[in-house]
Amino acid sequence: MAEETIFSKIIRDEIPAQKLYQDDLVTAFRDISPQAPSHILIIPNVLIPTMNDVAPEHELALGRMMTVAAKLAQQEGIADDGYRLIINCNQHGGQEVYHIHMHLLGGKPLGPMLS
Ligand code: AMP
Repeated sequence: MAEETIFSKIIRDEIPAQKLYQDDLVTAFRDISPQAPSHILIIPNVLIPTMNDVAPEHELALGRMMTVAAKLAQQEGIADDGYRLIINCNQHGGQEVYHIHMHLLGGKPLGPMLS
């Protein structure tokens, strides 16, 4: 059984977060340390620690993460200029919180991906 992270507490409203969206499958909230004018995290409500733990039963939640990202990009007014979606995995990927999450970044030119 994977250990819960702070993100499970955000899903359950046990700690404060700037939530932008929540449904039965996913939750989206503003990153506490934004790296761009719009920096939103989109997470599944079920605890999936890393991309390595993704399984077929998660496909509905993972698909919902994508549609919510597109909707939030529109809502933030960054869709036309463009934005970046990132999922970090494990140490080399720079993952810090072991509850899978998609970063939605935009609102400025982001430059080359590996800068
Ligand atoms: P990663 O390096 O991909 O694991 O990203 C983890 C992200 O979670 C970082 O961008 C953090 O700033 C963000 N983060 C950590 N704790 C919180 C929190 N309590 N509320 C919002 N974002 C958080």
